[in-house]
Amino acid sequence: MDKNTQCVHSGTISDRVTRGLNTPIFTSSSFEYMDVLENVYPRYFNTPNQKAVVDKLSALENTAGGLLFSSGMAAISTVIFSIAGNGDHVVMQKDIYGGTHHFATAEFERFGIEFTFTSNSVEGFEKAIKNNTRLLYIETPSNPLLLITDIEAAAQLAKSKNILSAIDNTFATPINQNPHDLGIDIVVHSGTKYLGGHSDICCGAVMTTHELIERIQSSAMNFGGSLNATTCQLLERSLKTLGIRVEKQNQNALTIARFLSQHKQVNNVYYPGLETHLGFDIASKQMRGFGGMLAFELDEDRIDPDRFVRKLGLITPALSLGGVETIICAPAVTSHAKISAAERQELGISDGLFRLSVGIEDVDDLTADLEGALSN
Ligand SMILES: *Cc1c(COP(=O)(O)O)cnc(C)c1O
Repeated sequence: MDKNTQCVHSGTISDRVTRGLNTPIFTSSSFEYMDVLENVYPRYFNTPNQKAVVDKLSALENTAGGLLFSSGMAAISTVIFSIAGNGDHVVMQKDIYGGTHHFATAEFERFGIEFTFTSNSVEGFEKAIKNNTRLLYIETPSNPLLLITDIEAAAQLAKSKNILSAIDNTFATPINQNPHDLGIDIVVHSGTKYLGGHSDICCGAVMTTHELIERIQSSAMNFGGSLNATTCQLLERSLKTLGIRVEKQNQNALTIARFLSQHKQVNNVYYPGLETHLGFDIASKQMRGFGGMLAFELDEDRIDPDRFVRKLGLITPALSLGGVETIICAPAVTSHAKISAAERQELGISDGLFRLSVGIEDVDDLTADLEGALSN
């Protein structure tokens, strides 16, 4: 089956009782144990609603299986803590989601885990790998500058060094990119973003091999970050339209990226689908679409960033991403507000930098809103 067909059909548990087409919501937290193959319990990650979503995501990511979590960070922290422990070392790309970055700096040391932040180049990863390295952790496209990491090269490096590899595939979604097919062991998602897609649920997923699921699940049952049946059902419902949503977001984002890159008030546009983007060649090789996220930098000599964002009508300044509505955020005053201005400058995050999460609206309405706010 192809992606859109998998979105609609994979994993559905047909309702034998009513012959309804949708997976019912199984609310039980208590299941009978006599004459069954496995004990079922929400925190064991094996309830029917969890399984239905995992089966759909397994089809989409082409993995043997997976686990659903109550947030993206529950998924990410469980993966890392089930692989690395006291005395182990983790190599992480430094341009990653702020929460993951903070998780490493705030928690690893207390648990005896060493880590090195590197550039997103394979040479950078190779230099950082040590004898006690257990995991290479990457994210592409990255937040907020949409840097592109060569997934296949990173996976091959990890294999050659006998360490595991993990990727945060939140920005790309399985519609645009399948890292497991390129050799990455573990794929994580913040399902709060595109998988949920309607800015109304919080969840996460880990997709991987049978062997690694067993290992991660045994820790996950102790950490306890499983997902409830009602949210599983909302996620399953959302995933049916993931393909058409993301395809529309890809198209809209490319149109807006081209529009902004020709605008005189805009200095830089960061979108992996633009030929001028540093990662365009690698992105073209490993992605089927370039995603709905882009960033751009206003020419602060010509236009005031605060005035610009206040003049927008349709496009809302808001946190998070991946929903059907287009939202904008300034990393300098949101995700990266806690770091010094000097550090921000080093990371390429100016006060005029904006990140756009492009929705599924008619693109002409979006460019008109931007044009209105960009005019003096
Ligand atoms: C939001 C996000 C996360 C964290 O997910 P939560 O659901 O907020 O815990 C991780 N990675 C990326 C790329 C994200 O955008």
